Amino acid sequence: MSAESAVGHTTTPSQTVFAAAERFFDDAAAILNLNLNQIAIVKKPRRSVIVQMPVFMDDGRIQLFEGFRVLHNKARGPGKGGIRFHPDVTLDEVQALAFWMTFKCAVVGIPMGGAKGGVVCDPSKLSNRELENLTRRYVAELYDVLGPDVDIPAPDVGTNPQVMGWVLDTYLMHSRKHQPGIVTGKSIELEGSEGRLGATGRGVEYCVRRFYKHVGKDLRGQTVAVQGFGNVGSFSALFLHQDGCRIAAISDVTGAYVSDSADIDPHLAMEHVRKRRSLDGFERVAKVRKLANPREILELDVEVLVPAALENQILADNVRKVRARLIAEGANGPTNYEADKNLAERGIPVIPDILCNAGGVTVSYLEWVQNRMGLYWSEARVNADLEEIMNRAFDSVWLCAQERKISLRLAAYVVAIQRVVIASELRGLYH
Ligand code: GLU
Repeated sequence: MSAESAVGHTTTPSQTVFAAAERFFDDAAAILNLNLNQIAIVKKPRRSVIVQMPVFMDDGRIQLFEGFRVLHNKARGPGKGGIRFHPDVTLDEVQALAFWMTFKCAVVGIPMGGAKGGVVCDPSKLSNRELENLTRRYVAELYDVLGPDVDIPAPDVGTNPQVMGWVLDTYLMHSRKHQPGIVTGKSIELEGSEGRLGATGRGVEYCVRRFYKHVGKDLRGQTVAVQGFGNVGSFSALFLHQDGCRIAAISDVTGAYVSDSADIDPHLAMEHVRKRRSLDGFERVAKVRKLANPREILELDVEVLVPAALENQILADNVRKVRARLIAEGANGPTNYEADKNLAERGIPVIPDILCNAGGVTVSYLEWVQNRMGLYWSEARVNADLEEIMNRAFDSVWLCAQERKISLRLAAYVVAIQRVVIASELRGLYH
């Protein structure tokens, strides 16, 4: 029932995910001439909670699961960020993901801080009942640190609107008040927002489209490879395809599926995944050839590469083989520091994760706003707001990159860190 396909982690053992993420921050902090006080108040996570959750399994056993919730920063608003269900989740990874949320919310200018949650589990190996028990236990354990004005969860890798329904129900049964804004990414029937399901993919599409507008090239006809075919990858492929791009390859844990004529129909692939739960066997229903190693998708000769799986995919050892002319990061942290430097040296632009995949949290924010008003908007209205917010964010990052002659990634951090630092200083050192 995984909402996101997963590709194995390959973190360098000597460096944690959070430490790696900090290196981008440090470079941007140097450009901004931040002093040590400013760095101290915005860089590290403020609260990390670890819970051990006993859950009744279908066979009568009790299994202990480990879960995390990290609030990285709340200077600009309540914590915001998804819950990841994945066997390799660690506290360090959740801290990095919460860190990215702080700067993601800041770069798009929505009034939220950064947070993230994680549970060490393989959702594809749990029954629906076990998954529900685990989700409810997680919310009950973390009740004190969650809330619509405190810290608001949402889906991430391995979770989906159904899981958010259980999060909502458990929280509301404890609070005894109707507060739909406690969680976002809910189904429409539970006061979710129109457009939220595909929002991250739509944001990726808007960013790629804006990039082409800035460089004065036509998006139509450009070839695209998408790594990962969960929520982010599938909707990115779908919307880019609708925008006239040609999908040359898609992948998930089962392999990479390449169309030499670059005409994969994302609808067909989504239908296949809905029936089969993965892309396994897609080479039998579409005119594609299968590459057994899914990571080879990163090395294809395409215009746009959308890594939309997990972190640490484009690394020092494979970056030289990357041939795409533009990288649009649908996943969080898919490119590590060394690889990012290499791409910058080779003049391959990267639309960085904190900007490129911010469509999801932006529509989460719109969902939260609608929940607080009790008034619901059409999908057209939501998409129009999303497009305006994404374009404005993209343009401010683009301008900063041009003015300072830095990469889009560094520019996104410069814009975002500045906003968090200003909010922190205006509030004073009490938060
Ligand atoms: N998990 C998504 C992200 O990494 C969405 C978070 C949210 O909507 O709060 O941005």
